[in-house]
Amino acid sequence: MPMTKSDNKALAPFKWVWKQLRTTAIQLVNSDYYPQGQKALVEAEDKIDIKRSLSFVFLHVGCIGLIWVGWSWTAVIAAVLLYVVRMFAITAFYHRYFSHKSFKTSRFMQFMMAVLGNSAMQRGPLWWAAVHRHHHIHSDHEEDKHSPVQHGFWWAHIGWLTSDRNFPTDYTRVRDLSKFKELMFLNRCDQAVPILYGIVLWLVGWGLQVWFPGLGVTGGQMFVWGFFVSTVFLLHGTLFINSLAHVFGKRRFQTDDDSRNSLLLALITLGEGWHNNHHRYSHSARQGFYWWEIDISYYTLKMMSWMGLIWDLKRVPYAVYAEAAGRGKAADAAEDEAIYTAGMRESA
Ligand SMILES: [Zn+2]
Ligand SMILES: [Zn+2]
Repeated sequence: MPMTKSDNKALAPFKWVWKQLRTTAIQLVNSDYYPQGQKALVEAEDKIDIKRSLSFVFLHVGCIGLIWVGWSWTAVIAAVLLYVVRMFAITAFYHRYFSHKSFKTSRFMQFMMAVLGNSAMQRGPLWWAAVHRHHHIHSDHEEDKHSPVQHGFWWAHIGWLTSDRNFPTDYTRVRDLSKFKELMFLNRCDQAVPILYGIVLWLVGWGLQVWFPGLGVTGGQMFVWGFFVSTVFLLHGTLFINSLAHVFGKRRFQTDDDSRNSLLLALITLGEGWHNNHHRYSHSARQGFYWWEIDISYYTLKMMSWMGLIWDLKRVPYAVYAEAAGRGKAADAAEDEAIYTAGMRESA
């Protein structure tokens, strides 16, 4: 029997639910899937995408689990260590390597660090680098997706992440990275590593509970501390660079944006708080330009270079040190030479 108009109307809500579930399921394994087309989505106005924002909601709500699982020193130390290790993957690799190419490494190391960075639930390395390269071109101008100067603190901090037009990866900005099939896979299937990370944590916690009951940790406790708590702190720590590092701190360089240097933010993010330095010269592997500007990611990168794991770390050029010393870009040759030597000594 043919369907009537009223049958169609009655089925409409079910069809809508089915379409949403189908889209969500496909996007779970392919983050590049957009039923309306990527171009239409990117060119539309900012609009919160509830489905795609659910992973962030889930991450925050999961912390309530602390009420049931309690705490142990083992779980707390694991959460802190996982914060530090994954913050390093984000700052040193997602940011300084994938986004800025500030040093070189092997294809294997590049992939391992991409996996570690992906476990921080900040999406794939190509999406991250594409968004970040866009930020450097348009920082604090109207097109900047996360400028607190243009769009206010909350939008710059987390609002922009929930807007559906910011979800697609702009592959035209990361052609150098998209030639690696394994990175493309991670980027498309960006939920796989976080899910795996959660399962592994649970299993490790459960194993410790069975074989080392004296530690007082359980599978659930390790999962809540290592997955939810650690990742929420890691997410907001990283996001502070978008929201606070363009508002809070001092400006050494008169860059074409409002970026600032802050020791507090540098400590929280292992060195990313020297954001004004970074906007002045983004190619450098170090963001703390002087020995007193603590940059833990850079010290770790330096150690990795001694072990031969990475190489060709880009340095801060002498002209930038001269500019910082207030001598301007056209400092005289002898003076430049002295500053250059000092700069090189510090970056060595
Ligand atoms: Zn910035
Ligand atoms: Zn950058």
